[in-house]
Amino acid sequence: MTSRFLKQELFIGKEGQRNIQNSHAVILGAGALGTAVSEMLVRAGIGKLTIIDRDYVEQSNLQRQQLYTEEDAEKKLPKAIAAEKRLKEISSYTVIEPIVEDINFHTVENFIRGASILMDGTDNFETRLVINDAAIKHQIPFLFGACVGSYGLSYPVIGENTPCLHCLIEQLPSQQITCDTAGVISPIVQWVAAMQVSQAMQILSDETIIPVLRSFDIWKMEYVEMNVAKLRNDNCPTCGKEANFPYLSSQNQTKAAVLCGRDAVHIRPPLPKELDLYELSQQWKSLAINIIANPYLLSFHYGDYRVILFKDGRAIIHGTSEVSVAKSIYTKLIG
Ligand SMILES: [Zn+2]
Repeated sequence: MTSRFLKQELFIGKEGQRNIQNSHAVILGAGALGTAVSEMLVRAGIGKLTIIDRDYVEQSNLQRQQLYTEEDAEKKLPKAIAAEKRLKEISSYTVIEPIVEDINFHTVENFIRGASILMDGTDNFETRLVINDAAIKHQIPFLFGACVGSYGLSYPVIGENTPCLHCLIEQLPSQQITCDTAGVISPIVQWVAAMQVSQAMQILSDETIIPVLRSFDIWKMEYVEMNVAKLRNDNCPTCGKEANFPYLSSQNQTKAAVLCGRDAVHIRPPLPKELDLYELSQQWKSLAINIIANPYLLSFHYGDYRVILFKDGRAIIHGTSEVSVAKSIYTKLIG
């Protein structure tokens, strides 16, 4: 032991500290949660940390994405690279592996192979369900975390006859609210990251943890715990008896098609949604311009793009013929 980890070792014991130092954490997404979680794990002495993100640093990230600086935003550094730079300044102990790529059904299994623990730093449920499938398939604990506004959620997916994220999906709040539309304050990020990391440390130091879904509204100071053990579904396609990991197959992904000659991309979610267009038009008043609503669709300008959003969740994004750009806008709006 070095004196660097003394205070932590006094609390979790020599073996627990050794386990953390011999572990490999994979951080999926390097936004607000991913950066907070990474910093805590690196300071705790994790042996190896892989951090994956497809995006680059922007000014609007700096309010809550704690590893990044104004210089990173000016240089438009990829988040994984900017995170690596800062994490190496914090500690030379951890081996940092940055990956600048998209996390999807095609890539996720390569990213997580050999990991001791998976940390959720994503911003949408579609990607979380992909990670959940991979985590159960490869039997690696996955610490789910999410936040929007002043509200946060945390849940440890540990397999072993306890519900996975897929089993709980109905219990989770509306997935059409994202921090790009409703905003987010940084204290709730810290709460969710703290829940994720403390449970990761417990798992890595071989403590038994009971899967409980926890939520906290840090503005209203409302904390709720939900014992979800009974929600384990024996027929769950991810963790049930005949699991087939549906989110690791290409059929259950958002489909995007470039509309030839129209500088537009059509997006179709994996399953039809039932959107409340009126509610969304009210919610988006401050970020969307020229909103036109009828019973079938919403039309509005969002940044440099014009978006047509249908009631069943399909969208046409005008102003780009890049699928990745259109998907990113869709995720920001719909989650
Ligand atoms: Zn399940």
